[in-house]
Amino acid sequence: MDFITTFALILRQNWDKMNDLLLSEEKDPMGQAIADFYKNGRADLLRVFSSQFEEDEIPVRQLFRTEAQMPAIERKALQLASGRILDVGAGSGCHSLALQQAGKEVLAIDISPLSVETMLKRGVRQVRQVNLFDERFCDTFDTVLMLMNGSGIVGRLENLPAFFCRMKQLLRPGGSILMDSSDLRYLFEEEDGSFSIDLAAGYYGEVDFQMQYKQVKGEPFDWLYIDFQTLSFYAAESGFRAELVMEGKHYDYLARLSVVN
Ligand code: SAH
Repeated sequence: MDFITTFALILRQNWDKMNDLLLSEEKDPMGQAIADFYKNGRADLLRVFSSQFEEDEIPVRQLFRTEAQMPAIERKALQLASGRILDVGAGSGCHSLALQQAGKEVLAIDISPLSVETMLKRGVRQVRQVNLFDERFCDTFDTVLMLMNGSGIVGRLENLPAFFCRMKQLLRPGGSILMDSSDLRYLFEEEDGSFSIDLAAGYYGEVDFQMQYKQVKGEPFDWLYIDFQTLSFYAAESGFRAELVMEGKHYDYLARLSVVN
């Protein structure tokens, strides 16, 4: 094989790998919904399927919430975010816009091409279409913000060590992650207040989702909900300290995770 062919092959492989880590418009239902809502001020149903739950929907308007409309744990996270901030899975850019308004420096990232496009149109100054786990994305931050069940992006419990390892690459000394999540144990609560959790069935916060907007259906993906105690345990194993900053109204909470060694 000549040099040019080999070079072209390497480029092609890298390109394929890079595309694996990002969404394309035809597989980006949430991005389609976000782009539609931005353009028309309304959107159709953003449908959510799961093998564990009944069909549900995400109110698209909520993805455009202003700071005043955000739940208290999200407002708290915005207050605590400092220095150079990374908004992971930024969606419509609601948190990035609020941070910019407060005079803070933020980079918004998302794997969705249509979300990235919409964020630019809405005036988010620093935006990149990149996957958090793509190691070619090397930059450093004082705060990594992961909101709206931000732990979801980790996918499964077993990915937590790799996630914390990645965070050590992205965090500056003294930096921290601000992440919200929910303890799904309430789904297993019986009428008498006891819990019926099948311990053999794996961790109860590991769920799978698939979304659809109009005719656009995305691939199924894993999404992790994690209780604070389990999060603290995994954090400690990876040299992070977990702090319970605030509890929400319904088994949800905001955690701050900082490197200890
Ligand atoms: N933070 C926003 C959106 C939450 S939805 C809000 O609170 O409104 C989750 C977002 O994460 C989606 O836009 C999805 O495209 C993005 N996402 C999922 N996995 C990602 C990854 N590995 N890296 C970057 N973004 C990701």
